Amino acid sequence: MEQSSSPYESYKKAGKIAAKVLDEAIKLIKPEVKLVEIADFVERKIVELGGKPAFPCNISINERAAHYTPKIGDESVFKEGDYVKLDIGVHVDGYIADVAKTVIVGSGRDDLIRASEDALKEAIKAIEPGVSTSYVGGIIEETIKSYGYKPIINLTGHKLERYRLHTGSVIPNVKTASGEVIKAGDVYAIEPFATNGFGKVVDESEAVIFRYIRDKPLRLRDARIVLQHVKKEYKTLPFAERWLADLMPKLKLYNALRHLVYNQVFHAYFILREKNRGMVSQAEHTVIVTEKGAEVITGK
Ligand code: MN
Ligand code: MN
Repeated sequence: MEQSSSPYESYKKAGKIAAKVLDEAIKLIKPEVKLVEIADFVERKIVELGGKPAFPCNISINERAAHYTPKIGDESVFKEGDYVKLDIGVHVDGYIADVAKTVIVGSGRDDLIRASEDALKEAIKAIEPGVSTSYVGGIIEETIKSYGYKPIINLTGHKLERYRLHTGSVIPNVKTASGEVIKAGDVYAIEPFATNGFGKVVDESEAVIFRYIRDKPLRLRDARIVLQHVKKEYKTLPFAERWLADLMPKLKLYNALRHLVYNQVFHAYFILREKNRGMVSQAEHTVIVTEKGAEVITGK
């Protein structure tokens, strides 16, 4: 008999899958391993365990802070000493768990990584109903600065809703002038980013991750094919160009994607890199706010 589950149970299941897959994937990151092997492992394992990827497996290295996922035919490999941010998302029935961790290939952790991890831990401790997001941002900022690093000011945590990865409400990584009051029942992804660079990210010129925004009449037939497929498979959640590789030849696909972004039917997530090309670390958990505080759903 079909058992219907509550949003809470779906979040818990998504969180459990995300934590397990992240843990296993991190162990596979070694010199000369291809990035795409890890992305494929993550995305396959999520489905095996009963979830779906909420967004493409992000593998952002060194000064790249976020939004990189292997391209079609990507041959790039991990190198000794790389700062690897592995960021994965799982959804169960649209309820999303978002989790990330940073490792140095071949050597594990250092203070830059501890700075973001510790900031995440302190932020989670501070969260309870009635607390302002700005206050939490201040705790993240202070913790990262206490290690001698800078928080990245234009990256933030975010509130999650069903099939919505970013809802507008944010958890900043610094103390801000105004914030929002955190309420019981809210679900937030908290993700401090620390750097030895400038403390800000800028767009690279390229995007490999996209999301559907709205319908519009489209002149290009290939664009209509891509749009129809994306709406059916990924709804309003981000997807990778790599996931569309079987739809049509690569150049036709790139052309269709460009047309869809130009017409503002798709949002393009440009690859983000640190302004001064500093090294970047990230730590992320998803929490459900309860009367007692933040319940981490992506922990062990
Ligand atoms: Mn994430
Ligand atoms: Mn996130």
